[in-house]
Amino acid sequence: PTEELQALDAAHHMHPFTDGNALNKKGARVITSAKGVTITDSDGKEILDAMAGLWCVNIGYGRDELADVAARQMRQLPYYNTFFQTTHVPAIELAKKLSQLVPGDLNHVFFNGSGSDANDTNIRMVRHYWALKGKPDKKTIIARWNGYHGSTVGAASLGGMKGMHAQGGLPIPDIAHIDQPDWWSEGGEQSPHAFGLERARQLEAKINELGEDKVAAFIAEPIQGAGGVIIPPESYWPEIQRICDKYEILLIADEVICGFGRTGQWFGSQTMGIRPDIMTIAKGLSSGYAPIGGSVVSDEIASVINSGEFNHGYTYSAHPVAAAVALENLRILEEEKIVEHAGKVAAPYLAGKWAELADHPLVGEAKIKGLMGSIALTPDAASRAAFAAGAGVVGLMCRDRCFANGLVMRHVGDRMIISPPLIITHQDIDTLIERATKSLDETYAAVKA
Ligand code: PLP
Repeated sequence: PTEELQALDAAHHMHPFTDGNALNKKGARVITSAKGVTITDSDGKEILDAMAGLWCVNIGYGRDELADVAARQMRQLPYYNTFFQTTHVPAIELAKKLSQLVPGDLNHVFFNGSGSDANDTNIRMVRHYWALKGKPDKKTIIARWNGYHGSTVGAASLGGMKGMHAQGGLPIPDIAHIDQPDWWSEGGEQSPHAFGLERARQLEAKINELGEDKVAAFIAEPIQGAGGVIIPPESYWPEIQRICDKYEILLIADEVICGFGRTGQWFGSQTMGIRPDIMTIAKGLSSGYAPIGGSVVSDEIASVINSGEFNHGYTYSAHPVAAAVALENLRILEEEKIVEHAGKVAAPYLAGKWAELADHPLVGEAKIKGLMGSIALTPDAASRAAFAAGAGVVGLMCRDRCFANGLVMRHVGDRMIISPPLIITHQDIDTLIERATKSLDETYAAVKA
């Protein structure tokens, strides 16, 4: 029975990013199965999952091919490491496939267990790279406030979530932050174009402040996900690229969310027109069916790092079962043209409907790129005002209304965000918008009351 499961869960299971009091009060929703874009809970309620799990189930739920591949691989070779000058077929094939899919000369992958592990790898790798190049002082990594790069000590230091820094004494040394390109919340009277340039030029100012011989890399998500799906003004990324090139700063694109079709192309870097030196990948790499991440690096970085021993690695680097599952996931994404469906079929239809939400009295801006979108809730769109109730109160109310109406939308403060499976159909999109509108109406009525 659901209540029994919830009581046991609250008693013994510690949840990520969850206030334990809430679990004691209400209990967690127990999810028992899923198919396509729909998850089902222990009471049999079907819910349209507009978050693809946690931005990851790109091919949708219930693909038996991945389960079959996992079972076959577990029987043949469930585990072997890649430390002892040893390797295995899933690692070799997945590395080769990624070198073909990832643009530019990013032809080499260091496998990790997750996106957080991958970003920790990146910190160590770029510092080691510059040391090997005879520039050991080039070790500061610049990142952005309200960016998210994971929860390990290194990745959370790169992230710009102040609440995370406050718990555990972060950031680690030699990490610096600049402001995010969130025009809605921080753009004031500036045009989006001018604001995008101003925020990008903060990178140049920070490099000049620290000294270019001290700065190793800049890391950012092509589109910030966990920060609230912040789609930067078009002026932003070209200016960032120019600055990285000018000062010889490595550009790390954290593609953990944007990668594997989320923005309508294979990688967010392509959508945003940037040429990273390193890409962080995870989530959509296996569509979340197995935990795996990677740092994909350029020929130049690999040749320097491979000139000696890099004292780094995880027991589960290139885990054979996860690698085999990822490979099968990429085969399905490619053969079924799921990225093309996301970008050319689903995204234009969703974009039209999403834009109409901006007319709702509770909504300020409605922004979307590919299949990641957000709406900003506000009591007054003209002044972009915040709610008197405090940040996140109305967002949480709306999230709960969505759940009750059979829709998973996440709230980040007072932004409501979506990132549905890439296989979403026009009919699913109609259902999504209908349920979102109903939930917004109910939230609006409650706020006004
Ligand atoms: N980077 C980005 C952009 C993410 O969104 C996330 C997770 O949401 C991570 C890194 C961390 O990945 P993981 O949760 O697999 O450690």
